[in-house]
Amino acid sequence: MIQTLPDIDLSKKLMKWYSTNKRDLPWRKIKDPYSVWVSEIILQQTRIETGIRYYLNFIKKYPNVKVLARSSKQQLLKTWEGLGYYSRVLNMHKAANQVLLIHEGVFPKDYFSLIDLPGIGDYTASAISSICNNEKQGVVDGNVLRFVSRLLKIDDSIDSLTTKKQIKKYITEKMSSSNPGDFNEAIMDFGSTVCKPKNFYCNSCIFALDCQANLSDLVKNYPVKSKKNKVVKKEMSYVIILSQNQKIFLKKRSDKGIWKNLFEFFLIESNNKPLTNELIIENLSKKFTLKSNKIKFIKSVKHKLSHIELKINFYLIKVKNPKSKMYDLSSLGRIPFPRPLKVILDDIL
Ligand code: SF4
Repeated sequence: MIQTLPDIDLSKKLMKWYSTNKRDLPWRKIKDPYSVWVSEIILQQTRIETGIRYYLNFIKKYPNVKVLARSSKQQLLKTWEGLGYYSRVLNMHKAANQVLLIHEGVFPKDYFSLIDLPGIGDYTASAISSICNNEKQGVVDGNVLRFVSRLLKIDDSIDSLTTKKQIKKYITEKMSSSNPGDFNEAIMDFGSTVCKPKNFYCNSCIFALDCQANLSDLVKNYPVKSKKNKVVKKEMSYVIILSQNQKIFLKKRSDKGIWKNLFEFFLIESNNKPLTNELIIENLSKKFTLKSNKIKFIKSVKHKLSHIELKINFYLIKVKNPKSKMYDLSSLGRIPFPRPLKVILDDIL
């Protein structure tokens, strides 16, 4: 439970801080719900510098919800390539089509219409509705959770839904009615630039004398988090198959994993061990006529995801022109790949 709250004029202090520390971000120039939505989805799990680059490119290619709805999934995945969590952009595509169908192509800006769209949860609906529709809906992202949990010295885990709801209620009560959008931007900016996870600036902080964690010299202990799930290690191996006529074998992933709908090379399961030449030849001979038995090991790369650490081994082999479908190397610029596969392609081609 959040303890009895000290009487902090959160809104007044934050807005004063924001007036001189506001970051000049491209989506803040206009209060357009479509642009704010694009920025909020991109910024989930993404650093701000990377997010700006992807945002500007995305808005250039898909300037409004109609263009987005009519684009192909493959084209969208290619635009998203490297950002990860690809279900985000597929949900955006679904949401754009729903906006055409239900809202006649006008992107909604009220909380309850927004939360009905695919891929939009409480955080995104609160951000858009407060910024574009002046609704009093507090946003609760990781920066806000950390800041408020230190300010109030909350001993419950910030991973719990109950704690998140309490923090949302607290900041929604504290935000001013005249500019809730600015309040939300301010509290998120404050968390990410002052009340940072490790290098927090308590000495110069405007809340230093209000902050319960700072006053007890316990900032490092907050926020409280539930124990993390153990990261699983997995090893996988890909063979890049090139034909004599300079074509490459690719397969679209159809499973439900994080790389669904992206393209990959020839995958050989090897029980978390590197492949042997015999195993590669045995697997490939069923489908291809090898030019020779010469297999080149390219390299192993590590790729970390939130719950899994992958070691990916890459090999290269040349084959005679097969009957099965192969892709022209010139088409690779239109095909979406998981990040580590794209990096290897850029290295070797
Ligand atoms: S005093 Fe330190 S811990 Fe408290 S809000 Fe400021 S930066 Fe965060």
